[in-house]
Amino acid sequence: MYQAKENRYSEMVYNRCGHSGLLLSAMSLGLWHNFGSAAPYTNMAEMVTTAFDLGITHFDLANNYGPEPGAAEENMGRILRRELAGYRDELIISTKAGYLMWPGPYGDHGSKKYLIASLDQSLRRMGLDYVDIFYHHRPDPDTPMEETAAALDQIVRSGKALYVGVSNYTPEQTKKMAALLRQLGTPLTVHQPRYNMLDRAFFEELEPTLAEEGIGSVCFCPLAQGLLTNRYLSGIPKDSRAASASPFLQENRITPELIEKVRRLQALAENRGQTLAQMATVWDLRNTLTSVILGASRASQIVENVQALSRRDFTPDELREIDSILYGDVSA
Ligand code: NDP
Repeated sequence: MYQAKENRYSEMVYNRCGHSGLLLSAMSLGLWHNFGSAAPYTNMAEMVTTAFDLGITHFDLANNYGPEPGAAEENMGRILRRELAGYRDELIISTKAGYLMWPGPYGDHGSKKYLIASLDQSLRRMGLDYVDIFYHHRPDPDTPMEETAAALDQIVRSGKALYVGVSNYTPEQTKKMAALLRQLGTPLTVHQPRYNMLDRAFFEELEPTLAEEGIGSVCFCPLAQGLLTNRYLSGIPKDSRAASASPFLQENRITPELIEKVRRLQALAENRGQTLAQMATVWDLRNTLTSVILGASRASQIVENVQALSRRDFTPDELREIDSILYGDVSA
């Protein structure tokens, strides 16, 4: 029977999510990969309990995480029942809907019909009465945003989620959703954008809007799915995401040019006394964001990445060098 470590809150940093009362661990764990129906239970449970022992309180899911879609939520449900049964009030569980989940006109996008039915399914899969955060996973240009906002408001009022957020919304879409939700009396608490050294533009354009509106930011893919680690420096390991059946990271992303940059970043990280995965994780956190969502295939990666919190500062020279490695001499 799992017993959480007593000192689990001693090292982690907790950041306020926008202007809300919600504090999130600076690092969260995402269950997008490695929590599918074929994943071994012991490895999944070890990842979740290791994260919790390190002070990670926030676990990020979506209706479609698998494969098969729904499998990650089912597995999280098992872990919550078998390992974390006594700890629900110490956990922030997030889920989302917005991508294709079931056939027909009601299993995708942003209608009230889809969002409410999907959250009901997610709650059943995880065996929960409520989730802490429910996100609209992506903007839907064909559903009036008023309807999506009304669905999010109804979800909070019905007690099925405590907070609501959006993911992948542009600054304009975010402002509109924040205004609609404000009128309804339910704040837009959090946004979930992509952000890493290789892919910065989306979050950087969004950040002023989030600050202005008092919305928290929980950023995904801090390691660019593993590209910003030592994983691919000597080829493509058989047990890596790029070698797996996942369509989201294909081998052709791993070019000699990228690997040369990664090698130089790794040398810089070593000079700082860190691994590249650690440096890339805290590079995200040097910014004003609330939390980065780590992905992992084994517990040791989570241990390594959380250790990065002890070396979070960057000198201006280090930041310039990172930019120069990735984008050429930007100061010239
Ligand atoms: P990362 O960019 O952190 O990539 C995680 C991968 O990096 C791991 O699976 C592992 O690859 C590798 N890795 C992690 N730590 C180390 C280490 N210390 N050393 C070497 N390799 C390491 O995040 P993800 O792409 O997994 O995304 C994180 C979460 O973000 C998702 O689970 C999901 O919750 C959320 N997300 C949200 C989206 C949205 O639209 N809202 C979209 C995408 C993600 P390997 O498996 O090869 O070992």
